[in-house]
Amino acid sequence: AADIAHPVAAAIEVAGDGPVVTRAAGREDALFSNDGQITKRPVRALTLSALAPRPGERLWDIGGGSGSIAIEWLLSDPSMRAISIEPRADRAARIRENAAALGMGRLDVIEGRAPDVLDDLDAPHAVFIGGGLSRALLDTLAERLTPGTRLVANAVTLESEALLADWQAKRGGELLRIELSEAAPLGTKRGWRSHYPVVQWRGAL
Ligand code: SAH
Repeated sequence: AADIAHPVAAAIEVAGDGPVVTRAAGREDALFSNDGQITKRPVRALTLSALAPRPGERLWDIGGGSGSIAIEWLLSDPSMRAISIEPRADRAARIRENAAALGMGRLDVIEGRAPDVLDDLDAPHAVFIGGGLSRALLDTLAERLTPGTRLVANAVTLESEALLADWQAKRGGELLRIELSEAAPLGTKRGWRSHYPVVQWRGAL
């Protein structure tokens, strides 16, 4: 059995002679080096489910952060392609490192802001917005992408949540509010520590 004291070791399972990563999306956060800006494991699992990757498809991961969404998209099948868009140089570098560490060096990382840098990218089958959500971004995607392109957007702030509520009124699709709590020490006992609620819109352009 592996020594599971280390968080990365705890994130992997042992099969045969070597460590392997589980096949299910929503892998341990510790697999993705990050500065706190990461879609946490349970929300990431729901996000990949909403994105519904199919063999051969390309994802745009807007607001790449640690790259966890695009990397899990790529891990779903060797035929997958993905482009991560992230304006911060330090995070873009980290996305490349995280992808390489999991053998997903085929991830393309674009350093820049959406919607400015989207013009020359190969068309996606699905788009995830995990950062940089704005009316201008939604309108640009709706104008430029093939009708039927799948879109999933996660909002944490009241402002971006209002944007998604308005978007659903006009465009349909599904809104999901994800409210999660985790047991954590509370004095000498335990209590439920709430995460910020995440509002997720899922639909087609
Ligand atoms: N899904 C990511 C976390 C995203 S955090 C993960 O799992 O790691 C949101 C990210 O969006 C931040 O890294 C931020 O730099 C980026 N961002 C902010 N505005 C943006 C924009 N206009 N275009 C692209 N990315 C943007």
